Amino acid sequence: MSHATVLVINAGSSTIKYQLVDPTSGEAIAGGLVERIGESNGLVEHRYHGEEHSEELPITDHGHGLREVLRLFDTHGPRLADAHIVAVGHRVVQGGSVFPHPTVVDDDVVEKIRDLIPLAPLHNPGSVRGIEVARELFSDIPHVVVFDTSFFQTMPASAYTYALPKDLAAEHSIRRYGFHGTSHQYVSEQAALLLGRDLTSFNQIVAHLGSGASISAIAGGTAVDTSMGLTPLEGLVMGTRTGDMDPAIVLHLQRAAGLSIDEVNTLLNKESGLKGLCGNNDFREVLAMIEAGNQDAALAFDVYVHRLVKYIGSYMAVLGGLPEVITFTAGVGENNALIRERVADALAGFGVRIDKEANAVRSKEARIVSTPDSTVAVAVIPTNEELAIARQTLALVEA
Ligand code: ADP
Repeated sequence: MSHATVLVINAGSSTIKYQLVDPTSGEAIAGGLVERIGESNGLVEHRYHGEEHSEELPITDHGHGLREVLRLFDTHGPRLADAHIVAVGHRVVQGGSVFPHPTVVDDDVVEKIRDLIPLAPLHNPGSVRGIEVARELFSDIPHVVVFDTSFFQTMPASAYTYALPKDLAAEHSIRRYGFHGTSHQYVSEQAALLLGRDLTSFNQIVAHLGSGASISAIAGGTAVDTSMGLTPLEGLVMGTRTGDMDPAIVLHLQRAAGLSIDEVNTLLNKESGLKGLCGNNDFREVLAMIEAGNQDAALAFDVYVHRLVKYIGSYMAVLGGLPEVITFTAGVGENNALIRERVADALAGFGVRIDKEANAVRSKEARIVSTPDSTVAVAVIPTNEELAIARQTLALVEA
């Protein structure tokens, strides 16, 4: 480990994911996670040198969780004192309009992230706790915050404005922010490398299909539209989130089904999407259910693909023509060949042609899965948000 390294921390409400990254080589040196913080059956996992260590123990709070992470490094390696850590990079979900770029942390920055909690009540409280305890434990190196929203701050007002009364929207900071920005930016840059093209010279569409899912239209390296909105609930069908629906459904659920605001919130975020449609939010199991003849799973798949195709068509229009490349990334996008094939088949009228054999190959490499005569390249590019955060962190502390 001769290069400078960055410790990347992604703190959620009850989890801390961490990775020690060499931003120069791109290597993930070690990593792991702390789960079920605040519960009696907490869990810690640490990976280093191809070995995985896990333990169950109660984790009282985020401070306790991060001290456990230090202990895991101490016990299983690598020794942090010898790891040349030059900075800690924190993933933060919501940066609002306040943070269009990654930012070096000081007290004022922490306060501003705290002020954004009403916009991201599920995500930002955990981030703030993670940053606070990490600054205590790593007090002699800089900390950098990298926001899921920053990449989308370039969107034009026509794309980020909701048709609500403008003063009310301004008073409550209601607009499209977009999320997964670190992934969309990283993957769009990798797409340029894969095509051997200058990023600023072409248009592309990126579909990040994980448990959460979002899609973006990118013109010359700049985001011009994206499917997630004020919160990560809008847009595509996801593992447990509805994505788009008539907003009046919320009112109807309150009036007709008697659900409270909290119940509707849980329903739309945790009980809907694939899980709501067929009882399962893991796409591998949805595919197995379809194989077994389950009709609910088959419809869930069709709804998922329909929404995705509809977004791609609308983003072609937003971009003013066919993009150079449509890229699939994240757990579903990287591994589910059937989704890619169905989407490409739906776009056959635009001259999109998938190479079925290339598409079926399982690989961790960035690759093109369309035929040479396809009007649009279809690519599969593994995302790597930790590496992107580590690189942005290093660039800022070296600047
Ligand atoms: P997140 O980081 O948002 O939790 P991921 O990007 O890890 O999510 O994606 C999780 C999703 O990817 C799950 O629905 C899972 O079923 C799906 N997935 C992972 N591996 C495969 C696979 N081999 N085939 C199909 N789907 C897969």
